[in-house]
Amino acid sequence: MSQKEYDIIIIGGGPAGLAAGLYAARAMRKTLVMEKYIPGGQMTLSSGIENYPAFGEGISGTELGQKMENDAEKFGAEIEAIEAEEIVDEGAHKIIRIKDGSQYRCKALILTMGSAARKLGISGETEFLGKGVSNCATCDAMFFRDKDVVVIGGGDAAVEEGTFLTRYAAQVRIIHRRDQLRAQKLIQKRAFENPKVEFVFDTIVTEILGDDKVNAVRTKNVKTEEEKVLETNGVFIFIGYIPNTSVAKGLVEMNEREEIIVNQRMETSVPGVFAAGDLLSHTIRQIVTAAGEGATAGFFADKYIDNL
Ligand code: NAP
Repeated sequence: MSQKEYDIIIIGGGPAGLAAGLYAARAMRKTLVMEKYIPGGQMTLSSGIENYPAFGEGISGTELGQKMENDAEKFGAEIEAIEAEEIVDEGAHKIIRIKDGSQYRCKALILTMGSAARKLGISGETEFLGKGVSNCATCDAMFFRDKDVVVIGGGDAAVEEGTFLTRYAAQVRIIHRRDQLRAQKLIQKRAFENPKVEFVFDTIVTEILGDDKVNAVRTKNVKTEEEKVLETNGVFIFIGYIPNTSVAKGLVEMNEREEIIVNQRMETSVPGVFAAGDLLSHTIRQIVTAAGEGATAGFFADKYIDNL
């Protein structure tokens, strides 16, 4: 069984993990960032980011992720495609086991596994994934050129990505379960001013219909209980996220939503284990805050090792 040794290991390569990697490596700690998919995390699904400082003119999530990866690597952080299976706290050392049986040992561990798209749990959602159902406008918008799509949700992601979809689609209907949007006011304003965007309020989607591809959704007005079948070619679902914290279950303290609880130094309930980003209990889930929390975790992980 192989075992590799590091000072600091970071599980998750989104903005929190990559910023933590930059700070840990720049503190001259032997640092590994484990990322099971591609560095950048959820932000790689974003069509355009204009609220990350210094990129007000807009940058794609993939490009921002790439830049953060380059910066962490520049200071010596190793970034590898590894999926953590199990974490064991041995006090002065933390062990991370992976599927092939090999293990990684570190003095300080930073958890930045982020979050995953929440599912509606309705009929057709899984069956038509990739056949008209999507959680990523950047990835799939081009398949809906001059077609009609619906977007489900009323937060920043639904309204922003819905507006982005009008670059390709003929019409975008944003279906929201209430009559008030949760999205930031500027994002709402752009959508309201876009002639291709229509809002369907107080409505839930109860079923996604189709044959080999999506062709309609069944909706229900939550106030009048009226049901309708709306013809559509695509269904983009943006109803929030759930934290990816299963690997840390039983290790660190979490709240009832299985989000990790940390103090201002990003320390969890276990000495030497830090957490940052979208999996935290108090986060506002912005790229800039994730990066800030990651930097804080990297900084204090270094100080923790100093005091061992
Ligand atoms: P969110 O803010 O949690 O909003 C989720 C939306 O989906 C809400 O409108 C919610 O309705 C609705 N929803 C939840 N469960 C539902 C269900 N079962 N059926 C129907 N509708 C449901 O999630 P998000 O928009 O994905 O954003 C996640 C985080 O990322 C937020 O903190 C957001 O600020 C951030 N973000 C920021 C930007 C940006 O700054 N440009 C862009 C994207 C995301 P209710 O409103 O009724 O609860």
